[in-house]
Amino acid sequence: MRAVVFEGTLQFRHDVELRPLDQDDVIVDVIKAGICETDLQLCQGYMGFSGTLGHEFVGIARSGLFAGQRVAGEINCACHACEICQRQLPNHCPHRTVIGIAGHDGAFAESVVVPEKNLHAIPDEISDGEAVFVEPIAAACRIAEQIHLAGGEVVTVLGDGRLGNLCAQVLRHQGCRVRVVGKHEYKLNLLEQLQISTIRLDKLQPQRDSDIVVDCTGSPTGLTTALRLVRPCGTIILKTTVAADQSIHMAPFVIDEIKLIGSRCGPFAVAIELLRNHAISVEPLLTATYPLEEAIVAFGHAVRKDALKVVFNVR
Ligand SMILES: [Zn+2]
Ligand SMILES: [Zn+2]
Repeated sequence: MRAVVFEGTLQFRHDVELRPLDQDDVIVDVIKAGICETDLQLCQGYMGFSGTLGHEFVGIARSGLFAGQRVAGEINCACHACEICQRQLPNHCPHRTVIGIAGHDGAFAESVVVPEKNLHAIPDEISDGEAVFVEPIAAACRIAEQIHLAGGEVVTVLGDGRLGNLCAQVLRHQGCRVRVVGKHEYKLNLLEQLQISTIRLDKLQPQRDSDIVVDCTGSPTGLTTALRLVRPCGTIILKTTVAADQSIHMAPFVIDEIKLIGSRCGPFAVAIELLRNHAISVEPLLTATYPLEEAIVAFGHAVRKDALKVVFNVR
């Protein structure tokens, strides 16, 4: 089948084969799949990944409970037997593979193998183009699982990219008072059009008035900026990984009793409901679509500063 593979270099190939199925696996015929920051990082050697890329997708299940239906798939494939899984933390299963990220071929392909437990049906009200955003919206929804939001919290989101935009929309929907700090006029305007207030990074006055700062910059400087904005006893949430080591002065965390929370994958069912209710607007984030054959051009586009979501049209 056709697939976009990373093996030291990014390649489009015609001759990729699906791996043999395990008992609970379902083949999903991919309709669309989105390129995300993690894919760009994997191409820089992050996680030492080699194989078919892609973890944000919508497709049609060939068999099982969802046969013939449109589905999106959670990306962590857990063993469901170990102690961590039994503590209901399958996303942290030490034996897990992660679709398109670690030890598991991804969805930039005609088909992808997904455990049936990971699948969620996509309701008719949600278009294919919107369904590609279920995975990153779920990641944004993870924040509300990790900290109690009463509504009215002052939240600063650092980063005006794909994930920053979705975190801002989700937290606004939760009743938080959200502003986004970014560098890109076009992306900030887009947020303003969604009635989310924004400020350019170079105009930012360090004022420690945020109850919560969400770092979606993917940059080593994000955490330092967050420390200048979070109030004493406030919370910093790290949404993006930085591949390189970084050093930071830890004393402020103690002196000001700042909570630091790492945050990764989240609840698909909640994300699907938000999309179904039109609580989140994703159309403005769609930058361009490409066929799998144009993978190199598509990745080149996704890297550009003015790009938000670049999507592969697979069928
Ligand atoms: Zn992603
Ligand atoms: Zn496990």
